[in-house]
Amino acid sequence: MTTWSNWVGNQSFAPRQVVATADEESVQEQVRAAVAGSYRVRTFGTGHSFTPIVETDVLLDTTALRGIVEIDEPARRVRALPKTTIGDFGKPLWERGLALANQGDIDTQSIAGAVATATHGSGRRLPNLSATVTGARLVDGTGEIVVIDASHPDLPALQASIGLMGIMTELEIEVVPAYELAARTDVLPFAEMLETFADDIDRYRHYGFFWMPTDASAELYNLSGAGADDCVLKRYLEVAPGTDPADLPEHHRLGPAFEIYPMVYDPNFHEVEYFLPLDQARAILSEMRQLMFEWLPLSVYPLEIRVVAADEAWISPNYQRENLVVSISGEPGTDYWTYLHACDQLFAEFAGRPHWGKIHFMTASRLAGLFPRYDEFVQTRKRFDPKGVFLNDHTQALFA
Ligand SMILES: Cc1cc2nc3c(=O)[nH]c(=O)nc-3n(C[C@H](O)[C@H](O)[C@H](O)COP(=O)(O)OP(=O)(O)OC[C@H]3O[C@@H](n4cnc5c(N)ncnc54)[C@H](O)[C@@H]3O)c2cc1C
Repeated sequence: MTTWSNWVGNQSFAPRQVVATADEESVQEQVRAAVAGSYRVRTFGTGHSFTPIVETDVLLDTTALRGIVEIDEPARRVRALPKTTIGDFGKPLWERGLALANQGDIDTQSIAGAVATATHGSGRRLPNLSATVTGARLVDGTGEIVVIDASHPDLPALQASIGLMGIMTELEIEVVPAYELAARTDVLPFAEMLETFADDIDRYRHYGFFWMPTDASAELYNLSGAGADDCVLKRYLEVAPGTDPADLPEHHRLGPAFEIYPMVYDPNFHEVEYFLPLDQARAILSEMRQLMFEWLPLSVYPLEIRVVAADEAWISPNYQRENLVVSISGEPGTDYWTYLHACDQLFAEFAGRPHWGKIHFMTASRLAGLFPRYDEFVQTRKRFDPKGVFLNDHTQALFA
């Protein structure tokens, strides 16, 4: 029996079959067979989600569907197959004077998986990847091909849809003129970070930080020079290609954006992440800091803080709201669920919305209160997948 596991190993299941589907027709065949046989079918990206959003009966392996299909320079759009990784876009776009507008902490996710969960980077003016999707081809829950373009009324439902509307076989993404980043990393005490927070999120294209609840946190993440209650700030300025590094002495790395964004992580943590109103950032940061101090040493993992612009995708956590993003990591196998529930309660007070790929404690009724277009999303999901072949236990409880 084959077992599928995600990257970190906190999710695994035994599908009754894994089927390699190298083209759209074979995806259609498999979806039709699932409808006829009353079983479920899904696909996976690179397994970087921490939530049970891949689990299914028949798992489609679309590894062959990888690569850029077309770069349209004048329109600033790129079409790509679903398994193309974020990293795959870097060089080819750069060579055509283009770039992804933003990237997250790693670049190994597939574009389809990243878009399905509204994967984001950090920057007040920069929305998540889903918001940059201008079109897609997908096989819906009846096995039919649906083509969605920028003017299609279902685009805001599809942009972030956790694979619930169909198996995407191609995506179109809006890109921007190529840019370089000058990266600056500083260690600042929490109070100093707070003083410059409001200015910094406006000044830097990319802004984020790790906050250390204990001295051990810095060691754990190789963030040298930081101690308890310090922040390691990552602030990236956008600069014109060819800028002389001597003009930016306080910035220690300068280069094409796609080379500056990605970091490397070992699969030794799992993560909870919520999106909270940016205009309440000071209160949220202060309360979260208190909570983590109270729960030492369970909170030895640093807190990661980022900011994301608002967008229009119906179940994007940034739907019509710019957010502060709070990520809490922990060691797999550690029993810190009581602590995580305490964090969830705090986030609920601020109308915190979940990251679909990171651990959360949502129910359907909570989602209905947090996402103004939740009901329309559920209706659209049902229209695309009337038999529910793309649902699983986790998503059925949230979106049936
Ligand atoms: C080390 C690490 C760093 C991370 N950094 C960030 C970060 O900086 N910012 C952030 O927002 N998130 C981050 N994440 C979360 C990650 O970006 C998301 O979980 C993302 O979904 C992973 O992409 P994937 O290709 O692994 O997709 P998977 O986890 O494999 O799948 C995600 C979902 O997409 C669906 N799917 C995949 N392919 C298709 C398709 N062709 N059609 C329809 N549905 C499809 C799957 O069924 C599943 O529901 C990180 C995760 C890890 C482990």
